[in-house]
Amino acid sequence: MNFLADRLSKIKPSITLTVNEKARKLEREGRDILSLAMGEPDYDTPQHIKDAAIKALERGETKYTPVAGTIPLKQAIQAKFKRENNLEYKLSEIIASTGGKQVLYNAFMATLNPGDEVIIPAPYWVSYPEMVILADGTPKIVVCGKDQQFKMRPEDLRKAITPKTKMFLLNSPSNPTGMAYTAEELQGLAEVLLANPHVLILTDDIYEHILFDDLQFNTIAQVEPRLKDRTITMNGVSKAYAMTGWRLGYAGGPESIIGAMANVQSQSTSGACSITQAAATEALNGDQTFVSESRKVFQDRRDKALDIINEARGLQAFKPHGAFYLFVNCEAVLGLSTPKGVKLLDDVKFAEELIEEKGVAVVPGSAFGLEGHFRISYALDTNDLIDSLNRITEFTASLV
Ligand code: PLP
Repeated sequence: MNFLADRLSKIKPSITLTVNEKARKLEREGRDILSLAMGEPDYDTPQHIKDAAIKALERGETKYTPVAGTIPLKQAIQAKFKRENNLEYKLSEIIASTGGKQVLYNAFMATLNPGDEVIIPAPYWVSYPEMVILADGTPKIVVCGKDQQFKMRPEDLRKAITPKTKMFLLNSPSNPTGMAYTAEELQGLAEVLLANPHVLILTDDIYEHILFDDLQFNTIAQVEPRLKDRTITMNGVSKAYAMTGWRLGYAGGPESIIGAMANVQSQSTSGACSITQAAATEALNGDQTFVSESRKVFQDRRDKALDIINEARGLQAFKPHGAFYLFVNCEAVLGLSTPKGVKLLDDVKFAEELIEEKGVAVVPGSAFGLEGHFRISYALDTNDLIDSLNRITEFTASLV
């Protein structure tokens, strides 16, 4: 008997699982495995944020909260949008959810009808297309390759838009490439969107604070205020405040859509955890030193990682603007073989053999919709990072 819903057959099994399974198997066999595959800061949550959670517990804030978030949290989000993005939202235009992931899922569930197309630039974060499919939408993947530094150009967007386009999904700085759009680049995309009033915009700004070299962060509703009434601006505390396990994301957007997202939420999770909401309120309102300090550490690791990768045989990566990933091109070594005679036919094989030979886990580019690459995360201890990268260097040097 197959008890599973048909919709499950429409979503792909994760490519990352292949690599992770291999990593786990080798670990069980006693091998020393270093993982460059994770997507979360390696630090602990700052103490003042934890203290706010403890105080909330002691005050007995252990009950259901309003579905879209507590008033203090929504006020903190409102102040954050004004302070950092010059965006003004009413409290009724703000929602907090169980992670950025649930914000996205709510947004798709609240807006997509069967057949609606969602334009997703590739490489993309692995969950976008699958979430769109679960919500009965159709992902329309637009590959933005290395010749355009993995960013969508206005002409790419113009070509991708059809009468069926419901939404355009933007992520900057990007997971997996770390590339960020400048205000001018966003303005270029905005011009195309202004000419297509049937397209809703969803921007995933979760890596806003991990942006290097004193670059200015830009989000599309700020750059082009005429788009604000059809833009959902999503963000969250996971990456900026090392709070991945707390599960808190949020969005500002048009009241009708935010209301519909709250409706979806009311019939699924009822909202984010009450204690987490108190912690996130402190994260947004409190001392921001942690954000700038961790940014410095990530920038230093990015520079070290980039130097090693670009020195390695057959590997090449752009200098990312933000996030904590390098998206490395490995096409020059595909087709070569390991010393044991295993041919590296594609990026998945590259990743599998890299673990097998050197005990380093990376995520193949195919998982993000662009073959011939792999993603490394530098959200790990700097010494382990350098050790892993040296192993990658040895690996490509050993290929024949
Ligand atoms: N968006 C992007 C691009 C991400 O990389 C992630 C996490 O990896 C998320 C959203 C979801 O973050 P969370 O659900 O922890 O807020």
